[in-house]
Amino acid sequence: NGTYDNRLLENDLLFKLLIIGDSGVGKSNLLLRYADDTFTEHHISTIGVDFWDTAGQERFNTITKAFYRGTHGVIIVFDLTDMETFQNVARWMKDVDQYGGSHVVKLLVGNKSDLKDKRVVTFEMGKGLADRLCAPYLETSARTSTNVEQAFLTMTADMKQAFD
Ligand code: GDP
Ligand code: MG
Repeated sequence: NGTYDNRLLENDLLFKLLIIGDSGVGKSNLLLRYADDTFTEHHISTIGVDFWDTAGQERFNTITKAFYRGTHGVIIVFDLTDMETFQNVARWMKDVDQYGGSHVVKLLVGNKSDLKDKRVVTFEMGKGLADRLCAPYLETSARTSTNVEQAFLTMTADMKQAFD
């Protein structure tokens, strides 16, 4: 009847999926695009997620640990037009390795592929990094929807294979 019912049915699977990466890379818009098929030009502030700057400090370990607890999958996002966000993927991966379980499913995503003139990270660079992380690689655009559904479908399939 067109209304949502979020209750789990008998054969449904429930996975915890994290979307991580530097502020501004498009994490919120990727989720918005996938879940709601919408996009916003504005930065969406996400309470409790922008604690990366302090995440290395000892007293934040508890929060980081709680954030990762029980996680089945992690999408690590960087911005194809921002080299620093690409370089920081290694820092995010360190958290995943330290706090995520050994079976956590990973996907590396280079977002904002629509900004062709501004691109600074090549496909080969992204794919090369993903290969070293033993993760698949996809380039997405939350603005134009390119590969967004593919990213979530890839995660879902890989989590199902790993945990079901
Ligand atoms: P988050 O901090 O990682 O959650 O990033 P947001 O989803 O809030 O997006 C940050 C900014 O980047 C916003 O101004 C978005 O409109 C913009 N943005 C996000 N995804 C894309 C994309 O695929 N293409 C373009 N051109 N802009 C994007
Ligand atoms: Mg956000």
